[in-house]
Amino acid sequence: MTNENIARVISWIDTHRGKIISDFKEFLRIPSLTGEEGKGQEFMIARLRDLGLEMDIWEPDIQELFTKFPDIAQYPTSWQPELDLALKFKDICTYEQLAGSEYADRLTYKGRPNAVGVRKGRGSGRSLILNGHVDVVTIGDRSRWDHDPFGAEHLGDTIYGRGASDMKGGIIAMLKALEAVIRSDIPLRGDVVFQSVVNEEHAGNGSLSCAARGYKADAAICAEPSGARRYATSSGGGVYWEIVIPGKEVHTGSRWKDGRLNGISAIEKSAPVINALLAQEAKANADQIKLSLGIGVVKGGTYATATARDCVLSGVVYFSPAMGTGPAGIRRVKAMFKEAIDHACAGDPWLSRNRAEVLYLHYDDAYRYPEDAGFLEVLLQSGKDALHADLEETAFSACDARQLGNQAGVPTIIYGPGELSMAHSVNECVTEGEIIEATKVIAATICNWCG
Ligand SMILES: [Zn+2]
Repeated sequence: MTNENIARVISWIDTHRGKIISDFKEFLRIPSLTGEEGKGQEFMIARLRDLGLEMDIWEPDIQELFTKFPDIAQYPTSWQPELDLALKFKDICTYEQLAGSEYADRLTYKGRPNAVGVRKGRGSGRSLILNGHVDVVTIGDRSRWDHDPFGAEHLGDTIYGRGASDMKGGIIAMLKALEAVIRSDIPLRGDVVFQSVVNEEHAGNGSLSCAARGYKADAAICAEPSGARRYATSSGGGVYWEIVIPGKEVHTGSRWKDGRLNGISAIEKSAPVINALLAQEAKANADQIKLSLGIGVVKGGTYATATARDCVLSGVVYFSPAMGTGPAGIRRVKAMFKEAIDHACAGDPWLSRNRAEVLYLHYDDAYRYPEDAGFLEVLLQSGKDALHADLEETAFSACDARQLGNQAGVPTIIYGPGELSMAHSVNECVTEGEIIEATKVIAATICNWCG
């Protein structure tokens, strides 16, 4: 693509800066919480239609996802606490468990369609997927926010709101990049496929449904908030777990009977389980697998005057692609839990007869971009063309790049405006400068890759 074409596109973006930001703020004011993405998708569908794209709009078919991707498909989720990660399972989630549960009628994709718009190229060029999720996580405790979470307050260069970084800024940057290319009449040989998906948070089913529907391309951008001058070539995985440790409840006054231990507190029995898990975490890191074990919640016992009947530990493990990409990494994490619990139970007389049990609530697989795909070089050149800057590599955690890369087989780079640290936080924000810079880099990438 000639620099003259890129200069036209950049100039279009500079000229329309005010409209780009006002459209972003309008989108940010739509509370497209996970489970209630309908209005957010209406906004996107109208904009994609305006660009003359061929639209494909459908509600993801949960049964199809489990049939086609049994190791990867997850239960639909919702921002509502009682519907988020509502089902627990021993190994993997299954359609049968969901269909037979009390949640079958509420965890669905009714009114939550995916929207894909295709801009056909003239032929014989390289195609590109632009992927983003419209759902945003809960605002949590409103009193902790200094700004209206759905007000799109604009102070100086900073715009506040749930989803500003994760990832409405990224969706708008991709949308406006494509608009800039189309309105500037830049000829493209390859197709551009715009995927506006639902339920990325705690599921990834929107992008998985795009893969199930057969959407493929020669490369993809997943516009999660890497930062406008940074990019990521991999994403880590995550496994949400819970361990149930049994005890024997007696009044503490009769904990010892005839000189023998009679009451067993499940809380004290959590100690060997925790120690065994920590040993596994340390071993993985010594083996150069970055792995973080979070023990987030401990619940146990009923009375101060009784030994605790049970103790439940729960948390999440995040792991790097070195643990394995795709289902292999998830299987290794589960094997790690089994080994830790086997070890803890073998070394404790009570636990050896009353095993602790691990349950899972959700998992994301890790992804790594294939280095020989040729797309990263084009993105880096586009950073130079658009910003006269060298984009720098950064790390990223679980996101839909895994569905594009591992399931649809599309070499995917994570690139978008905003800060990962802002995702899911109170006072989430993004700067105007980040959105504009990312719009320019994505527009140049469309020109350079598909032109
Ligand atoms: Zn996100």
